[in-house]
Amino acid sequence: MPPLFSDFKLNTFIQRALAEVGYIAPTPIQEKVFSAAMSGADICGIAQTGTGKTLAYLLPVLNQWRYNKDKQVQILIIAPTRELALQIKEEAQKVSRYLNCVCMAAYGGINLKQHAAEVSEGVDLLVGTPGRLLDLLYDGYIKPNKIKKLILDEVDELLNLGFRPQLDKILEMLPEKRQNLLFTATMTPDIELIINDYFNRPLTIEAAPSGTPLDNITQYRYQTPNYYTKINLIKHLLATDPSMQKVLLFAATKQKADECYELLTENENTNVGIIHSNKSQNYRIDTVKKFESGEIKYLIATDIIARGIDISQITHVINTDVPEEPEAYMHRIGRTGRATQKGTALLLTTPVEQNAVDAIEALMQQKIEVLPLPPEVPVSATLSDEEIPVVKMKTYLVSMPDISDSQGAFHEKKEKNKKVNIKISHTEKMKQKYGKPKTRGQKKR
Ligand code: AMP
Repeated sequence: MPPLFSDFKLNTFIQRALAEVGYIAPTPIQEKVFSAAMSGADICGIAQTGTGKTLAYLLPVLNQWRYNKDKQVQILIIAPTRELALQIKEEAQKVSRYLNCVCMAAYGGINLKQHAAEVSEGVDLLVGTPGRLLDLLYDGYIKPNKIKKLILDEVDELLNLGFRPQLDKILEMLPEKRQNLLFTATMTPDIELIINDYFNRPLTIEAAPSGTPLDNITQYRYQTPNYYTKINLIKHLLATDPSMQKVLLFAATKQKADECYELLTENENTNVGIIHSNKSQNYRIDTVKKFESGEIKYLIATDIIARGIDISQITHVINTDVPEEPEAYMHRIGRTGRATQKGTALLLTTPVEQNAVDAIEALMQQKIEVLPLPPEVPVSATLSDEEIPVVKMKTYLVSMPDISDSQGAFHEKKEKNKKVNIKISHTEKMKQKYGKPKTRGQKKR
């Protein structure tokens, strides 16, 4: 019999909230982290998105949280993006609704004063991005010595985004006596350094070995000759596959995301949304809400922005390109098949992306099944800017012909052309004229 949340030593308030939101059985990482974290040990959790890692750390820390009337931050969670911070806050609110524990998210892009005022009103659990948390700490709104639990979520991404200096500054301000929990999709030497510097002999708990795709995600690959054929294929799939109800499309850059959006909305398709870091915060939140509610069915996103999206029932993830880092692919496909649901991930490739495909397959230790391109999909003859081959010109060293004993092509110069310009200085001219150097005038004394 698989364990149930009701078997956990969770207080009745949390039990009630879990039952209300319909969380009955823990996921493997939740089961493993709960007892270890309840013992007070530091934890290093290796878990991909979609494994239920957020609840894995929220449940034990909320279960150990005690009401305190001065309402100072006791639980501090650091996340790489504002979207993820908001998502974590919402998850925390869901399960702490009967606890009287105030949860808040703080991130850049919003007036600091607004966040400062909110924190001053009393907050128990604060989740935020590193820069904003540092501001609140420096300005004295968060009292570091009150923090009992520190959680670093998606540390791999925090480091990828260059937040190590801010993390150091925050961690150095915190009291020695605290519990640390860290979650990452992959373990890297940089993360090990953080653990060595700040953690107290953490227990490593792995949801799935690093690089193992989630069992409930079916993966397929389409080989296409070029980018515009990929777009034709996407249009065809969205139009003909009725199972594609909630589709997240990944693009490597903002520019590629914009281009993909323009091409998919060419024929007035109003079912498509887009989010990337150039879109305003409100636009992004609004678009994600529409996607969640089903108002739009297809959402194009860049990797970083999509990190924070926790939308259940994403039926398909479409990779419009192959990420350079195989771990990024794992993160992408982890947006579907969340918790106990099934999902499909499609990888659209061109021949130049073969090396990146090989890297992904090596990481997963499995091949992705290749599906034939449907015959109805027009194969484009146009190449995108990046696909146009760059013609590299070699620089040849041209040696001059040896003319010492040739006569042909070189004519003898006419006498008048043999004159050579010789520059004669003023002094020299005077000398030639007067026989001795002559100055231009007597110097005045
Ligand atoms: P995460 O890996 O933390 O991003 O969570 C992935 C998704 O699974 C979120 O939508 C959670 O709300 C959902 N989830 C987490 N734990 C459970 C659970 N035990 N039962 C059902 N859904 C869950």
